Amino acid sequence: MPKISVPPKEIKDRLQEYARVHRYPMRDFIMQMLAVQYAASLDGNVRTICNGVIETDSIASVAINRINTLAICEMTKEVEWNILSINIDEEISKKPFSKHDEILWAKENNIPDERTMTCWTPVFENGVLYHCGECYACCERKAGFFNAKVIDKTNYYK
Ligand SMILES: [Zn+2]
Repeated sequence: MPKISVPPKEIKDRLQEYARVHRYPMRDFIMQMLAVQYAASLDGNVRTICNGVIETDSIASVAINRINTLAICEMTKEVEWNILSINIDEEISKKPFSKHDEILWAKENNIPDERTMTCWTPVFENGVLYHCGECYACCERKAGFFNAKVIDKTNYYK
């Protein structure tokens, strides 16, 4: 898997203050676009992209996924593409995943949540990557662990 920075390193510093309040503009869409491009670059026929989103993410909409699926099918002239978010698709899951649900799901499936990154403005200092501890995503993460009654092992900067 290629290591790609979203947003690009060249503009990330200038976006930090903006992102602290508003998020990185179009970040989730860019990640989805990169997933599609990565799938197209692979040998084989990967044409299903499954987003791991929760109900508060900007692309947490079945309608958005359908529009993006149609767009990629139209662009590539391939009808096999399918962009899904099973965590928020009420046709598949019983209710949209919240952060609390996501944390419980990770625990049930032995996913080391302390190794995941949700922060919009992470801090890299002395070789350690910290969650900022202050942005909306960090606050939602902290509340999710609290509500799930799971010990939060996240490295927060503040
Ligand atoms: Zn943060």
